[in-house]
Amino acid sequence: MTSAIYPGSFDPVTNGHLDIANRAAALFDELIIGVYDRPSKHLLFSTEERVDLIKKAVTHLPNVRVTSYSGLTVDFAREVKAKVMVRGLRMSSDFEREFEMALMNKNLDRDVELVCLMTSLEFQFLSSSLLKEACELGGDINDLVPKHVAAALKKKFPQTRKRVGK
Ligand code: ADP
Repeated sequence: MTSAIYPGSFDPVTNGHLDIANRAAALFDELIIGVYDRPSKHLLFSTEERVDLIKKAVTHLPNVRVTSYSGLTVDFAREVKAKVMVRGLRMSSDFEREFEMALMNKNLDRDVELVCLMTSLEFQFLSSSLLKEACELGGDINDLVPKHVAAALKKKFPQTRKRVGK
């Protein structure tokens, strides 16, 4: 049985993340989505909220579970007995970052292999940070996230006014 982890901040989960999770779930016996509890970026959602939002979005995938983790991602992989780490690639800057992280992770644990899945065309511009910015400025984000995530985002930005003419 091959288990894989899909680690990230998921602040919040987007349809781009879910596309990668769906495809990875079809490749591996078990996929464990790891929500990193303290990334070095400003977070909008708490760890518990980020986990809950993903859990609700993957209920249709029986071989996927969601959990938070702290510390090194390779230690998380070892803890859940996963040999593979899945990441998504959008643009060349993602590749450079993933390549650097992969080399560091290989240095820390030779047994964990990185598998990168290319984004689907419709999600290549989609990141959690741009999504939050667009939502805060009143942009329509309904096609970019599941319904419950759009609702959670709108709750975080209650003062946001509708754009003129929308
Ligand atoms: P991190 O802070 O670890 O980069 P993210 O939540 O931003 O966490 O992303 C988790 C993973 O999902 C990363 O590998 C990222 O490249 C990938 N990802 C994010 N958005 C997309 C998308 N639209 N298409 C494909 N992969 C994506």
